[in-house]
Amino acid sequence: MSSSKPDRERVDIAEIDVVVVGAGFAGCYMLHRVREMGLSVRAFETSSGVGGTWYWNRYPGARCDIESMEYSYQFSEELQQEWEWSERYSPQSEILAYINHVADRFDLRRDIQFETRVTSAHFDETGRRWHVVTDRGDELSAQFCIMATGCLSSTNTPDFPGLDAFEGDWVHTGDWPHEGVDFSGKRVGVIGTGSSGIQSIPLIALESDHLTVFQRTANYSVPANNRPMDPQVQAKVKADYRAFRQRNSEMPFGAFADVGRREESAVLATEEERAEHYDYWWIEGGLTFLASYGDLMFDADANATAASYVRGKIRELVDDPEVAEILIPDQVFGCKRLCADTGYFETFNRSNVDLVDVRKSPIEEITPTGLRTGDAEYALDVIVFATGFDAMTGALLGIDIRGRDGQTLGEKWSAGPRTYLGLGTAGFPNLFTITGPGSPSVLANMVPAIEQHVNWISDCIQYLRDAGLHEIEASIDAEDAWVDHVNEVANMTLFPGCNSWYLGANVPGKPRVFMPYIGFPMYVEKCEEVVAKNYEGFVTS
Ligand code: FAD
Ligand code: NAP
Repeated sequence: MSSSKPDRERVDIAEIDVVVVGAGFAGCYMLHRVREMGLSVRAFETSSGVGGTWYWNRYPGARCDIESMEYSYQFSEELQQEWEWSERYSPQSEILAYINHVADRFDLRRDIQFETRVTSAHFDETGRRWHVVTDRGDELSAQFCIMATGCLSSTNTPDFPGLDAFEGDWVHTGDWPHEGVDFSGKRVGVIGTGSSGIQSIPLIALESDHLTVFQRTANYSVPANNRPMDPQVQAKVKADYRAFRQRNSEMPFGAFADVGRREESAVLATEEERAEHYDYWWIEGGLTFLASYGDLMFDADANATAASYVRGKIRELVDDPEVAEILIPDQVFGCKRLCADTGYFETFNRSNVDLVDVRKSPIEEITPTGLRTGDAEYALDVIVFATGFDAMTGALLGIDIRGRDGQTLGEKWSAGPRTYLGLGTAGFPNLFTITGPGSPSVLANMVPAIEQHVNWISDCIQYLRDAGLHEIEASIDAEDAWVDHVNEVANMTLFPGCNSWYLGANVPGKPRVFMPYIGFPMYVEKCEEVVAKNYEGFVTS
């Protein structure tokens, strides 16, 4: 790489084998694996602790919606045996405690530099190394650069005029203050009704004097039916955790194996059978509702039966029929991520809660004392932005990444992300992305998806070292074919059918491309096949 830096500065550049960016579930496990391989490694993390998502998202009600026994690492049998989960769906604080326990147990912190943002990573074609720079002035040269920057880590705060002049407090669910937010006696506005809004709204309603919910798109949500962990369930899983993980890895989303795979068709069932069936899954609770019939995400008529059932439930749960109608979604069921809630729809029966339809009358500005839509003004003391993330690409494109010939990742991905397997992108040798676009990532139980990627990357680095090779890079042909395949698979389903963040539709100006790969087991099989064929589709040298 050409550099105008004087030699005096260049001698200080630390030479290491691997840089890992991020210290959430992905970065922590990556660091552990690389260290086990005897490589020198440095991880950088913007925040002051490990945990990623679970460090940042401390809003009331934040918890996982994949069951606790599944939403955890499996790489260490001792770890999965010793950790006790207290609820069916763990609260944020418990997941954060767990990842801190992992960091202690495997002594990870000594190789993580916190409160440090990686600002650039440039590939030096002559030295065949990545030159990595941070906002604290660190400069490193590394053979491999591994991005563990997260799919949902770059917050999206809409650019409403007037926010700077707002005299109250405003917060984003994805960057929640550690000291918490005191809502007592306050008039609160929540913007956004995705999973974060739906989890936090019932609790904010309890704590605040008055809550106004600003909804642009009504969302489908099913009861989470959270409950204390059943010790017998925990003991049963732990008796053969390996088999439990294996069963889950064979499921389309890499989860929910013990709830049972439903192959039946919703359209072939009679109306009575369907009603009974949906009642069962509604009471069972959780995201498995989406898989309660095998064809819900493949057949529009099947999908309409689930949509109609949930719409009926909303009408039952919400006392005021006019409010219920605003809360009833009109898009394909599940094409925006399904939410799992605790008392969400019932919250709108409270006398201190109002719902505003901002699809009908959009938010025009934040005023010093509140918020103004097209037809009314609302006085607010606190505004909560539950407005989501620049998903899958935001954190990566937030870094100045340059590959061969100085090409930036932003240029390469200007029409949407292009990767091979979501692991690498042509023109950027030895750069790996954990749960990158084009991999199952957000359409899978993410912890096993992360572990599968970390294991694949570790094995790949070991392969290169054993073979005396220095570089690996996705070939453009393999990448083009993979991007086509990702789209082809998505288009066989109903997932691309609405303005979801899977398509980047939530961020103005973002290219509309379906980013995750649908089908965890098929994906894992493909990754294994690539390895068996000596990294077919990658170029090594
Ligand atoms: P993250 O946890 O996002 O960590 C990435 C880290 O990289 C962050 O800490 C960030 O600060 C850091 N970083 C980014 N850029 C830089 C930079 N330039 N320099 C230094 N550091 C940087 N998934 C599920 O499967 N099940 C669930 O139930 C579930 N619940 C969720 C609930 C919430 C509220 C959210 C937001 C997401 C949820 N997810 C869930 C998805 C979740 O993001 C993943 O499960 C998982 O935690 C991702 O881990 P990660 O390490 O890949 O990314
Ligand atoms: P999200 O699903 O993207 O929801 C953001 C909400 O903000 C949407 O309702 C969106 O409306 C609204 N919004 C965005 N910009 C707006 C604007 N300019 N004006 C008005 N409304 C606006 O984000 P999220 O709720 O943070 O969830 C993101 C993902 O994180 C989830 O899908 C899930 O994968 C994960 N997550 C999981 C859990 C869990 O239960 N385990 C909890 C939280 C998050 P539109 O729909 O119209 O764009």
